[in-house]
Amino acid sequence: AVRVRFAPSPTGFLHLGGLRTALYNYIFAKKYQGSFILRLEDTDQTRLVPGAAENIEDMLEWAGIPPDESPRRGGPAGPYQQSQRLELYAQATEALLKTGAAYPCFCSPQRLELLKKEALRNHQTPRYDNRCRNLNQEQVAQKLAKAPKPSIRFRLEEAAPAFQDLVYGWNRHDVASVEGDPVIMKSDGFPTYHLACVVDDHHMGISHVLRGSEWLVSTAKHLLLYQALEWQPPHFAHLPLLLNRDGSKLSKRQGDIFLEHFAADGFLPDSLVDIITNCGSGFAGNQMGRTLPELITQFDLTQITCHSALLDLEKLPEFNRLHLQRLVSSESQRRLLVGKLQALVEEAFGSQLQNRDVLNPVYMERILLLRQGHICRLQDLVSPVYSYLWTRPAVGRAQLDAISEKVDVIAKRVLGLLERSGMTLTQDALSGELKKLSEGLEGTKHSNVMKLLRVALSGQQQGPPIAEMMVSLGPKEVRERIQEALS
Ligand code: GLU
Repeated sequence: AVRVRFAPSPTGFLHLGGLRTALYNYIFAKKYQGSFILRLEDTDQTRLVPGAAENIEDMLEWAGIPPDESPRRGGPAGPYQQSQRLELYAQATEALLKTGAAYPCFCSPQRLELLKKEALRNHQTPRYDNRCRNLNQEQVAQKLAKAPKPSIRFRLEEAAPAFQDLVYGWNRHDVASVEGDPVIMKSDGFPTYHLACVVDDHHMGISHVLRGSEWLVSTAKHLLLYQALEWQPPHFAHLPLLLNRDGSKLSKRQGDIFLEHFAADGFLPDSLVDIITNCGSGFAGNQMGRTLPELITQFDLTQITCHSALLDLEKLPEFNRLHLQRLVSSESQRRLLVGKLQALVEEAFGSQLQNRDVLNPVYMERILLLRQGHICRLQDLVSPVYSYLWTRPAVGRAQLDAISEKVDVIAKRVLGLLERSGMTLTQDALSGELKKLSEGLEGTKHSNVMKLLRVALSGQQQGPPIAEMMVSLGPKEVRERIQEALS
Protein backbone atom coordinates (compact mmCIF):
# COMPACT_ATOMS: atom_id res chain seq x y z
CA ALA A 1 0.00 0.00 0.00
CA VAL A 2 1.16 3.51 -0.71
CA ARG A 3 1.96 5.41 2.48
CA VAL A 4 3.62 8.79 2.25
CA ARG A 5 4.39 11.44 4.79
CA PHE A 6 4.89 15.16 5.04
CA ALA A 7 7.39 15.69 7.85
CA PRO A 8 7.90 19.35 8.64
CA SER A 9 9.66 20.63 11.71
CA PRO A 10 7.37 22.88 13.72
CA THR A 11 10.00 25.60 13.61
CA GLY A 12 7.75 27.91 11.64
CA PHE A 13 4.30 28.27 10.15
CA LEU A 14 3.35 26.49 6.94
CA HIS A 15 4.66 28.32 3.87
CA LEU A 16 4.41 27.79 0.14
CA GLY A 17 7.46 25.52 -0.04
CA GLY A 18 5.99 23.24 2.62
CA LEU A 19 2.60 23.30 0.95
CA ARG A 20 4.21 22.14 -2.27
CA THR A 21 5.89 19.15 -0.64
CA ALA A 22 2.67 18.30 1.17
CA LEU A 23 0.68 18.62 -2.04
CA TYR A 24 2.79 16.22 -4.05
CA ASN A 25 2.58 13.74 -1.22
CA TYR A 26 -1.17 14.14 -0.91
CA ILE A 27 -1.74 13.87 -4.65
CA PHE A 28 0.49 10.80 -4.93
CA ALA A 29 -1.30 9.13 -2.00
CA LYS A 30 -4.76 9.82 -3.40
CA LYS A 31 -3.76 8.71 -6.89
CA TYR A 32 -2.94 5.26 -5.50
CA GLN A 33 -5.62 5.09 -2.78
CA GLY A 34 -2.86 5.37 -0.22
CA SER A 35 -2.46 7.27 3.04
CA PHE A 36 -1.08 10.73 3.57
CA ILE A 37 0.57 11.12 6.95
CA LEU A 38 1.60 14.25 8.82
CA ARG A 39 4.57 13.74 11.11
CA LEU A 40 6.01 16.56 13.15
CA GLU A 41 9.77 16.46 13.42
CA ASP A 42 10.13 18.27 16.69
CA THR A 43 13.31 16.78 18.06
CA ASP A 44 15.20 20.04 18.05
CA GLN A 45 13.40 21.43 21.05
CA THR A 46 15.36 24.67 20.98
CA ARG A 47 13.92 25.70 17.62
CA LEU A 48 10.23 25.06 18.26
CA VAL A 49 7.94 27.96 17.46
CA PRO A 50 4.79 28.25 19.57
CA GLY A 51 1.68 27.62 17.51
CA ALA A 52 3.58 26.20 14.53
CA ALA A 53 2.37 22.62 15.01
CA GLU A 54 -1.28 23.75 15.12
CA ASN A 55 -0.78 26.12 12.21
CA ILE A 56 0.71 23.41 10.00
CA GLU A 57 -2.21 21.07 10.54
CA ASP A 58 -4.79 23.88 10.31
CA MET A 59 -3.35 25.08 7.03
CA LEU A 60 -3.23 21.60 5.49
CA GLU A 61 -6.92 21.34 6.27
CA TRP A 62 -7.55 24.81 4.90
CA ALA A 63 -5.71 23.89 1.71
CA GLY A 64 -8.04 20.92 1.26
CA ILE A 65 -5.34 18.31 1.80
CA PRO A 66 -6.06 16.99 5.31
CA PRO A 67 -3.77 14.21 6.47
CA ASP A 68 -5.24 10.75 7.02
CA GLU A 69 -3.02 10.27 10.04
CA SER A 70 -1.59 13.09 12.12
CA PRO A 71 -0.98 14.34 15.65
CA ARG A 72 -4.54 15.65 15.77
CA ARG A 73 -6.26 12.78 14.01
CA GLY A 74 -4.15 9.99 15.44
CA GLY A 75 -3.86 6.73 13.53
CA PRO A 76 -2.41 3.23 13.68
CA ALA A 77 1.24 4.32 13.44
CA GLY A 78 1.20 7.05 16.08
CA PRO A 79 2.24 9.00 17.94
CA TYR A 80 2.93 11.41 15.10
CA GLN A 81 5.25 13.76 16.97
CA GLN A 82 8.83 12.66 17.18
CA SER A 83 9.21 14.00 20.70
CA GLN A 84 6.76 11.29 21.77
CA ARG A 85 8.66 8.49 20.09
CA LEU A 86 11.95 8.71 21.96
CA GLU A 87 11.75 5.07 23.03
CA LEU A 88 11.88 3.89 19.40
CA TYR A 89 14.99 5.95 18.66
CA ALA A 90 16.65 4.67 21.81
CA GLN A 91 15.95 1.09 20.72
CA ALA A 92 17.42 1.66 17.29
CA THR A 93 20.47 3.33 18.80
CA GLU A 94 20.92 0.38 21.12
CA ALA A 95 20.80 -2.01 18.18
CA LEU A 96 23.37 0.02 16.27
CA LEU A 97 25.68 0.21 19.28
CA LYS A 98 25.44 -3.54 19.67
CA THR A 99 26.67 -4.28 16.17
CA GLY A 100 29.30 -1.57 16.32
CA ALA A 101 27.56 0.44 13.60
CA ALA A 102 27.34 3.28 16.11
CA TYR A 103 29.69 4.43 18.84
CA PRO A 104 29.67 6.85 21.74
CA CYS A 105 31.37 10.16 21.19
CA PHE A 106 32.87 12.03 24.11
CA CYS A 107 34.15 15.03 22.25
CA SER A 108 33.27 18.22 24.07
CA PRO A 109 31.24 20.93 22.37
CA GLN A 110 34.34 23.12 22.65
CA ARG A 111 36.45 20.65 20.70
CA LEU A 112 33.81 20.31 17.99
CA GLU A 113 33.53 24.07 17.77
CA LEU A 114 37.30 24.33 17.37
CA LEU A 115 37.31 21.76 14.56
CA LYS A 116 34.61 23.71 12.85
CA LYS A 117 36.39 27.02 13.16
CA GLU A 118 39.61 25.60 11.87
CA ALA A 119 37.91 24.10 8.83
CA LEU A 120 36.18 27.36 8.05
CA ARG A 121 39.45 29.22 8.39
CA ASN A 122 40.91 26.92 5.76
CA HIS A 123 37.85 27.33 3.59
CA GLN A 124 36.89 23.71 4.08
CA THR A 125 33.58 22.10 4.91
CA PRO A 126 33.53 21.38 8.64
CA ARG A 127 34.04 17.69 9.16
CA TYR A 128 34.11 15.63 12.31
CA ASP A 129 37.45 13.82 12.37
CA ASN A 130 35.90 10.60 13.71
CA ARG A 131 38.18 10.76 16.72
CA CYS A 132 36.00 8.59 18.99
CA ARG A 133 35.43 5.98 16.30
CA ASN A 134 38.32 3.80 17.35
CA LEU A 135 38.19 3.94 21.12
CA ASN A 136 38.53 0.46 22.55
CA GLN A 137 36.17 -1.01 25.12
CA GLU A 138 38.40 -0.08 27.99
CA GLN A 139 38.71 3.53 26.89
CA VAL A 140 34.98 3.73 26.42
CA ALA A 141 34.38 2.37 29.92
CA GLN A 142 36.80 4.87 31.41
CA LYS A 143 35.24 7.78 29.62
CA LEU A 144 31.73 6.63 30.45
CA ALA A 145 32.64 6.70 34.12
CA LYS A 146 33.47 10.40 33.77
CA ALA A 147 30.84 11.39 31.25
CA PRO A 148 27.91 8.98 31.47
CA LYS A 149 25.92 10.66 28.72
CA PRO A 150 27.90 10.71 25.50
CA SER A 151 26.35 11.46 22.17
CA ILE A 152 26.16 8.58 19.71
CA ARG A 153 27.58 8.71 16.22
CA PHE A 154 26.88 6.51 13.27
CA ARG A 155 29.85 4.92 11.56
CA LEU A 156 29.49 5.90 7.93
CA GLU A 157 30.69 3.21 5.58
CA GLU A 158 33.23 4.50 3.12
CA ALA A 159 31.35 3.17 0.15
CA ALA A 160 28.03 4.95 0.07
CA PRO A 161 25.49 2.92 -1.84
CA ALA A 162 24.26 4.21 -5.16
CA PHE A 163 20.51 4.55 -5.28
CA GLN A 164 17.89 5.30 -7.82
CA ASP A 165 15.84 8.36 -7.10
CA LEU A 166 12.50 8.33 -8.86
CA VAL A 167 13.08 11.91 -10.04
CA TYR A 168 16.85 12.41 -10.14
CA GLY A 169 17.80 8.94 -11.33
CA TRP A 170 20.97 7.22 -10.15
CA ASN A 171 22.80 8.99 -7.35
CA ARG A 172 25.85 8.40 -5.26
CA HIS A 173 27.08 10.73 -2.59
CA ASP A 174 30.35 10.26 -0.87
CA VAL A 175 29.00 11.41 2.47
CA ALA A 176 31.65 9.72 4.61
CA SER A 177 34.55 11.80 3.39
CA VAL A 178 32.62 15.05 3.41
CA GLU A 179 31.17 15.37 6.89
CA GLY A 180 32.52 12.57 8.99
CA ASP A 181 30.35 10.37 11.18
CA PRO A 182 27.10 12.11 12.07
CA VAL A 183 25.60 12.29 15.55
CA ILE A 184 22.42 10.24 15.56
CA MET A 185 21.57 10.56 19.24
CA LYS A 186 22.34 13.58 21.33
CA SER A 187 23.46 13.34 24.92
CA ASP A 188 20.04 14.58 26.08
CA GLY A 189 18.32 11.50 24.67
CA PHE A 190 16.88 13.25 21.63
CA PRO A 191 17.74 11.82 18.22
CA THR A 192 18.94 13.94 15.32
CA TYR A 193 17.03 14.21 12.08
CA HIS A 194 18.70 11.34 10.23
CA LEU A 195 18.02 8.66 12.79
CA ALA A 196 14.53 9.86 13.69
CA CYS A 197 13.54 10.07 10.04
CA VAL A 198 14.74 6.55 9.22
CA VAL A 199 13.24 5.00 12.35
CA ASP A 200 9.88 6.67 11.73
CA ASP A 201 9.70 6.00 8.03
CA HIS A 202 10.37 2.36 8.86
CA HIS A 203 7.92 2.02 11.75
CA MET A 204 5.25 4.05 10.02
CA GLY A 205 5.43 1.78 7.00
CA ILE A 206 6.28 4.60 4.61
CA SER A 207 6.44 3.27 1.05
CA HIS A 208 7.64 6.40 -0.75
CA VAL A 209 9.55 9.41 0.54
CA LEU A 210 8.70 12.50 -1.48
CA ARG A 211 10.63 15.48 -0.18
CA GLY A 212 12.61 18.50 -1.29
CA SER A 213 15.80 17.99 -3.25
CA GLU A 214 17.79 19.56 -0.42
CA TRP A 215 17.58 16.15 1.24
CA LEU A 216 18.98 14.20 -1.69
CA VAL A 217 22.47 13.96 -0.20
CA SER A 218 21.11 12.92 3.20
CA THR A 219 19.46 9.97 1.52
CA ALA A 220 22.86 8.32 1.21
CA LYS A 221 23.20 8.44 5.00
CA HIS A 222 19.68 7.20 5.45
CA LEU A 223 20.32 4.22 3.21
CA LEU A 224 23.40 3.33 5.24
CA LEU A 225 21.25 3.47 8.36
CA TYR A 226 18.65 1.19 6.76
CA GLN A 227 21.44 -1.20 5.87
CA ALA A 228 22.87 -1.19 9.37
CA LEU A 229 19.45 -1.71 10.92
CA GLU A 230 18.66 -4.41 8.36
CA TRP A 231 15.52 -2.68 7.25
CA GLN A 232 14.09 -2.40 3.77
CA PRO A 233 14.27 1.24 2.65
CA PRO A 234 11.33 3.01 1.01
CA HIS A 235 11.46 4.45 -2.49
CA PHE A 236 12.75 7.99 -2.77
CA ALA A 237 11.57 10.80 -5.01
CA HIS A 238 13.12 14.20 -4.48
CA LEU A 239 11.27 17.25 -5.66
CA PRO A 240 13.10 20.07 -7.40
CA LEU A 241 13.22 23.37 -5.57
CA LEU A 242 10.43 25.90 -5.61
CA LEU A 243 11.89 29.33 -6.38
CA ASN A 244 10.69 32.80 -7.15
CA ARG A 245 10.25 33.67 -10.80
CA ASP A 246 13.69 35.30 -10.86
CA GLY A 247 15.31 32.17 -9.46
CA SER A 248 15.82 33.56 -5.96
CA LYS A 249 14.93 31.56 -2.89
CA LEU A 250 11.31 31.70 -1.84
CA SER A 251 12.24 32.54 1.73
CA LYS A 252 14.13 35.59 0.51
CA ARG A 253 10.91 37.13 -0.64
CA GLN A 254 9.18 39.57 1.67
CA GLY A 255 7.83 37.69 4.70
CA ASP A 256 4.55 36.84 3.06
CA ILE A 257 5.03 33.26 1.95
CA PHE A 258 3.02 31.88 4.82
CA LEU A 259 -0.29 30.28 4.01
CA GLU A 260 -2.19 32.14 6.67
CA HIS A 261 -1.20 35.37 4.98
CA PHE A 262 -2.83 34.26 1.73
CA ALA A 263 -5.88 33.00 3.60
CA ALA A 264 -6.29 36.32 5.40
CA ASP A 265 -5.88 38.13 2.09
CA GLY A 266 -8.87 36.33 0.66
CA PHE A 267 -7.09 33.94 -1.66
CA LEU A 268 -8.81 30.63 -2.16
CA PRO A 269 -6.97 27.45 -1.23
CA ASP A 270 -7.81 26.10 -4.68
CA SER A 271 -5.90 28.85 -6.39
CA LEU A 272 -2.78 28.29 -4.27
CA VAL A 273 -2.95 24.57 -5.01
CA ASP A 274 -3.37 25.40 -8.67
CA ILE A 275 -0.56 27.92 -9.02
CA ILE A 276 1.92 25.77 -7.13
CA THR A 277 1.29 22.66 -9.18
CA ASN A 278 1.05 24.72 -12.34
CA CYS A 279 4.61 25.98 -12.02
CA GLY A 280 6.01 22.54 -11.30
CA SER A 281 6.14 19.39 -13.33
CA GLY A 282 4.53 16.00 -12.85
CA PHE A 283 1.19 16.62 -14.51
CA ALA A 284 -0.11 15.94 -17.95
CA GLY A 285 -0.76 19.42 -19.31
CA ASN A 286 -0.52 22.62 -17.32
CA GLN A 287 -3.67 24.60 -17.98
CA MET A 288 -4.81 27.03 -15.31
CA GLY A 289 -7.89 26.47 -13.22
CA ARG A 290 -7.34 22.85 -12.24
CA THR A 291 -8.79 21.44 -9.04
CA LEU A 292 -7.41 18.71 -6.81
CA PRO A 293 -9.44 15.87 -8.35
CA GLU A 294 -8.17 16.89 -11.79
CA LEU A 295 -4.62 17.17 -10.52
CA ILE A 296 -4.85 13.70 -9.01
CA THR A 297 -6.02 12.28 -12.33
CA GLN A 298 -3.29 14.08 -14.27
CA PHE A 299 -0.44 13.30 -11.88
CA ASP A 300 2.40 11.10 -13.04
CA LEU A 301 5.47 10.83 -10.83
CA THR A 302 7.65 9.89 -13.80
CA GLN A 303 6.84 13.25 -15.38
CA ILE A 304 8.51 15.24 -12.60
CA THR A 305 11.66 16.81 -14.02
CA CYS A 306 14.76 18.01 -12.16
CA HIS A 307 14.17 21.63 -13.13
CA SER A 308 13.36 24.07 -10.38
CA ALA A 309 9.79 25.25 -10.32
CA LEU A 310 9.56 29.01 -10.75
CA LEU A 311 6.63 30.55 -8.95
CA ASP A 312 5.22 33.79 -10.28
CA LEU A 313 3.04 35.07 -7.47
CA GLU A 314 1.93 38.03 -9.54
CA LYS A 315 -0.28 35.60 -11.39
CA LEU A 316 -2.04 34.53 -8.21
CA PRO A 317 -4.94 37.00 -8.55
CA GLU A 318 -5.63 35.61 -12.01
CA PHE A 319 -5.67 32.06 -10.69
CA ASN A 320 -7.98 33.22 -7.95
CA ARG A 321 -10.29 34.89 -10.43
CA LEU A 322 -10.74 31.59 -12.28
CA HIS A 323 -11.40 29.62 -9.13
CA LEU A 324 -13.76 32.21 -7.72
CA GLN A 325 -15.68 32.10 -10.98
CA ARG A 326 -15.88 28.32 -10.78
CA LEU A 327 -17.24 28.49 -7.23
CA VAL A 328 -19.81 31.12 -8.12
CA SER A 329 -21.20 28.89 -10.84
CA SER A 330 -21.91 26.12 -8.35
CA GLU A 331 -25.10 26.71 -6.39
CA SER A 332 -23.91 25.20 -3.13
CA GLN A 333 -20.54 26.93 -3.29
CA ARG A 334 -22.24 30.19 -4.15
CA ARG A 335 -24.25 29.96 -0.97
CA LEU A 336 -21.06 29.59 1.03
CA LEU A 337 -19.60 32.61 -0.73
CA VAL A 338 -22.69 34.61 0.16
CA GLY A 339 -22.02 33.86 3.83
CA LYS A 340 -18.46 35.08 3.48
CA LEU A 341 -19.52 38.15 1.59
CA GLN A 342 -22.05 39.01 4.30
CA ALA A 343 -19.26 38.88 6.87
CA LEU A 344 -17.01 41.03 4.69
CA VAL A 345 -19.70 43.64 4.15
CA GLU A 346 -20.58 43.73 7.83
CA GLU A 347 -16.94 44.17 8.67
CA ALA A 348 -16.30 46.86 6.08
CA PHE A 349 -19.55 48.83 6.29
CA GLY A 350 -21.30 47.59 9.42
CA SER A 351 -22.31 50.87 11.05
CA GLN A 352 -22.72 52.70 7.73
CA LEU A 353 -25.33 50.32 6.39
CA GLN A 354 -28.47 52.49 6.10
CA ASN A 355 -30.23 49.66 4.39
CA ARG A 356 -29.67 46.23 5.83
CA ASP A 357 -31.48 44.67 2.88
CA VAL A 358 -28.12 44.65 1.15
CA LEU A 359 -27.23 41.69 3.34
CA ASN A 360 -30.06 39.72 1.81
CA PRO A 361 -28.70 36.51 0.22
CA VAL A 362 -30.78 37.00 -2.91
CA TYR A 363 -29.22 40.41 -3.49
CA MET A 364 -25.76 39.07 -2.79
CA GLU A 365 -26.14 36.12 -5.13
CA ARG A 366 -27.20 38.48 -7.87
CA ILE A 367 -24.07 40.56 -7.32
CA LEU A 368 -21.87 37.47 -7.40
CA LEU A 369 -23.42 36.20 -10.60
CA LEU A 370 -23.08 39.58 -12.29
CA ARG A 371 -19.54 40.32 -11.14
CA GLN A 372 -17.97 36.83 -11.45
CA GLY A 373 -15.09 36.84 -13.88
CA HIS A 374 -14.46 40.52 -13.18
CA ILE A 375 -13.26 40.29 -9.63
CA CYS A 376 -10.20 38.36 -8.44
CA ARG A 377 -11.13 38.07 -4.79
CA LEU A 378 -14.39 38.24 -2.89
CA GLN A 379 -12.75 41.06 -0.90
CA ASP A 380 -12.69 43.20 -4.03
CA LEU A 381 -16.43 43.64 -3.63
CA VAL A 382 -15.98 45.73 -0.51
CA SER A 383 -13.31 47.98 -2.07
CA PRO A 384 -14.28 51.65 -2.69
CA VAL A 385 -15.31 51.08 -6.34
CA TYR A 386 -18.03 48.77 -5.12
CA SER A 387 -19.16 50.69 -2.07
CA TYR A 388 -22.25 51.76 -4.07
CA LEU A 389 -23.50 48.19 -3.74
CA TRP A 390 -23.76 48.51 0.02
CA THR A 391 -24.27 52.18 0.81
CA ARG A 392 -25.85 55.11 -1.00
CA PRO A 393 -23.39 57.66 -2.29
CA ALA A 394 -23.74 61.30 -1.23
CA VAL A 395 -24.28 63.03 -4.55
CA GLY A 396 -25.19 66.70 -4.89
CA ARG A 397 -27.21 68.18 -7.69
CA ALA A 398 -24.24 70.38 -8.64
CA GLN A 399 -22.17 67.30 -9.51
CA LEU A 400 -24.81 66.24 -12.01
CA ASP A 401 -25.17 69.69 -13.54
CA ALA A 402 -21.44 69.76 -14.14
CA ILE A 403 -21.81 66.73 -16.41
CA SER A 404 -24.80 67.75 -18.47
CA GLU A 405 -27.18 70.64 -18.96
CA LYS A 406 -30.03 68.24 -19.42
CA VAL A 407 -30.07 66.55 -16.08
CA ASP A 408 -33.82 66.84 -15.59
CA VAL A 409 -34.70 65.57 -19.04
CA ILE A 410 -32.35 62.64 -18.80
CA ALA A 411 -33.52 61.75 -15.29
CA LYS A 412 -37.14 61.91 -16.39
CA ARG A 413 -36.50 59.55 -19.27
CA VAL A 414 -34.58 57.06 -17.16
CA LEU A 415 -37.30 57.11 -14.51
CA GLY A 416 -39.86 56.62 -17.26
CA LEU A 417 -37.93 53.67 -18.59
CA LEU A 418 -37.88 52.10 -15.14
CA GLU A 419 -41.58 52.68 -14.78
CA ARG A 420 -42.37 51.02 -18.07
CA SER A 421 -40.00 48.08 -17.82
CA GLY A 422 -40.38 47.35 -14.13
CA MET A 423 -38.17 44.57 -12.80
CA THR A 424 -38.09 42.58 -15.95
CA LEU A 425 -35.19 43.87 -18.05
CA THR A 426 -32.00 41.88 -18.39
CA GLN A 427 -28.68 43.68 -18.49
CA ASP A 428 -28.45 43.41 -22.28
CA ALA A 429 -31.99 44.62 -22.85
CA LEU A 430 -31.50 47.49 -20.44
CA SER A 431 -28.26 48.44 -22.16
CA GLY A 432 -30.12 48.60 -25.49
CA GLU A 433 -32.88 50.72 -23.99
CA LEU A 434 -30.38 53.17 -22.56
CA LYS A 435 -28.79 53.59 -25.98
CA LYS A 436 -32.15 54.32 -27.53
CA LEU A 437 -32.89 56.77 -24.77
CA SER A 438 -29.70 58.73 -25.52
CA GLU A 439 -30.39 58.70 -29.23
CA GLY A 440 -33.60 60.52 -28.55
CA LEU A 441 -31.72 63.32 -26.84
CA GLU A 442 -30.56 65.85 -29.41
CA GLY A 443 -27.06 67.15 -28.75
CA THR A 444 -26.33 64.87 -25.80
CA LYS A 445 -23.76 62.16 -26.12
CA HIS A 446 -24.54 58.66 -24.87
CA SER A 447 -21.28 58.67 -22.92
CA ASN A 448 -22.45 61.73 -21.02
CA VAL A 449 -25.74 60.11 -20.15
CA MET A 450 -23.80 57.13 -18.83
CA LYS A 451 -21.48 59.33 -16.85
CA LEU A 452 -24.39 61.11 -15.31
CA LEU A 453 -26.04 57.88 -14.29
CA ARG A 454 -22.80 56.49 -12.94
CA VAL A 455 -22.31 59.48 -10.67
CA ALA A 456 -25.94 59.50 -9.57
CA LEU A 457 -25.91 55.79 -8.73
CA SER A 458 -22.43 55.35 -7.31
CA GLY A 459 -20.81 58.74 -6.80
CA GLN A 460 -17.87 57.29 -8.76
CA GLN A 461 -16.21 57.97 -12.09
CA GLN A 462 -15.53 54.31 -12.77
CA GLY A 463 -17.11 50.95 -12.21
CA PRO A 464 -19.06 48.20 -13.93
CA PRO A 465 -21.31 48.92 -16.94
CA ILE A 466 -24.30 51.14 -16.06
CA ALA A 467 -26.84 48.54 -17.09
CA GLU A 468 -25.18 46.04 -14.78
CA MET A 469 -25.19 48.52 -11.92
CA MET A 470 -28.88 49.11 -12.47
CA VAL A 471 -29.69 45.41 -12.58
CA SER A 472 -27.70 44.81 -9.40
CA LEU A 473 -29.31 47.63 -7.47
CA GLY A 474 -32.78 46.88 -8.73
CA PRO A 475 -35.34 49.42 -10.06
CA LYS A 476 -36.54 50.69 -6.72
CA GLU A 477 -33.10 51.56 -5.41
CA VAL A 478 -32.12 53.08 -8.77
CA ARG A 479 -35.21 55.29 -8.73
CA GLU A 480 -34.58 56.47 -5.21
CA ARG A 481 -30.93 57.24 -5.87
CA ILE A 482 -31.74 59.25 -8.96
CA GLN A 483 -34.44 61.18 -7.12
CA GLU A 484 -32.14 61.82 -4.20
CA ALA A 485 -29.41 63.14 -6.46
CA LEU A 486 -31.84 65.46 -8.23
CA SER A 487 -33.03 67.15 -5.11
N1 GLU B 1 11.96 17.67 8.98
C1 GLU B 1 12.47 17.74 7.65
C2 GLU B 1 12.07 19.10 7.09
O1 GLU B 1 11.80 19.95 7.86
C3 GLU B 1 11.90 16.59 6.85
C4 GLU B 1 12.72 16.15 5.69
C5 GLU B 1 12.15 14.84 5.17
O2 GLU B 1 11.07 14.88 4.59
O3 GLU B 1 12.77 13.81 5.37
O4 GLU B 1 12.00 19.34 5.92
